[in-house]
Amino acid sequence: MSKLPLRARLATSLGSAAGRVSRLAGRGDGSVIGGVLGLRVEPELLRLLATGRQIVLVTGTNGKTTTTRLVTAALGALGQEVATNAFGANMEAGLASALGRSPDAPYAVLETDERYLPAVIEATRPRVVVLLNLSRDQMDRAAEIWLTARRWRRALEAADDCLVVANADDPLIAWAAAAAPRVTWVAGGQRWHEDSWCCPECGSHLRRDELGWRCGECGFARPSARWVLDGDSVIDEAGQVWELALTLPGRANASNAVMALAVAAYFGADTDQALPLLREVRSVAGRYTLVERQGRQVRLLLAKNPAGWLEAFDVLAPKPCPVLLAVNAQGPDGRDTSWLWDVDYRVLTGRPVFVTGERGTDLAVRLEADQVPFELVTGVDDAVARVLGRELDVLANYTAFQQIRTTLGRAV
Ligand SMILES: [Zn+2]
Repeated sequence: MSKLPLRARLATSLGSAAGRVSRLAGRGDGSVIGGVLGLRVEPELLRLLATGRQIVLVTGTNGKTTTTRLVTAALGALGQEVATNAFGANMEAGLASALGRSPDAPYAVLETDERYLPAVIEATRPRVVVLLNLSRDQMDRAAEIWLTARRWRRALEAADDCLVVANADDPLIAWAAAAAPRVTWVAGGQRWHEDSWCCPECGSHLRRDELGWRCGECGFARPSARWVLDGDSVIDEAGQVWELALTLPGRANASNAVMALAVAAYFGADTDQALPLLREVRSVAGRYTLVERQGRQVRLLLAKNPAGWLEAFDVLAPKPCPVLLAVNAQGPDGRDTSWLWDVDYRVLTGRPVFVTGERGTDLAVRLEADQVPFELVTGVDDAVARVLGRELDVLANYTAFQQIRTTLGRAV
């Protein structure tokens, strides 16, 4: 901390004081307000706080928070302090605040909002950038995510001392990362194809087969990967096979874990050291948590957009475990719920489905169209009361998830 210029030191301490007040007032973890104030005093705060550290940036439409947590856990194998924005405050203020809270940490793993990636690369000069996936978030359209990928491409092209760890199975990610001087490709899979039928390079139709994807026109094709997710195993860059056996459920999290192992390996942490640390991660900011409620096990899942809902359906407990779907449309969720129509709900047939949230009726209309039987309920406790068995899975979008966490208590 002492090596910071005076103005930056002042900005950091003002920011952390504001964060403490905000926490005491019960307004979240205080990292955003603290960072905002700090940046007002010293606009270069993020750059100054990042100087001299090994920075890892994690971005993508889905899985940012979980992957940030997994990379942070994996770097624990190095035995040094790791700064991180664990609560998803992923714009400049949240990043500055995370670094300010851990002034002496030599490593930092920072979840970064997709739109801010180029600016954050410029400010923090990261050693590693992790690119997970790119798809529509609520009302984004294909053209907008292509523009995002193009901005990433330009920023990465200029980042010559940075390694990009990227998912080779997502064509937009592959296109954005291909411009970077150094890339470690990971075969992480892609469950959601709806936003990548077209070649990002020339716009022609992409062909897919068991080997991946390729463009018949310009020849742009899936790069071959050095790290491969294969079922529940990972094949590392030396060709060694490891069973993942994570506590976190689902293929998407397995893919996130492989990304984390690739980052850890770059910094010199072996897979046999890093993997046990990944297995210890049980929940991420309340997600995947099991809560006991009126004698039933309630499990919380968060999904914010069509690709996220599809991935969440994969990790539901086996049928006939019931599921509660909760949808709001406040600012952070996106006000327009038409994205609900992009998801195929027929996989839910065969289990009791409960629906709630401020926009539960929008979802009800959508389920009607897919002929999926459901019951409208007033909230999580109403659903719990109607469950016959021991378990209930809850799948909610952002503010609906936060409301349910509040209902179930701060232990979540
Ligand atoms: Zn092409």
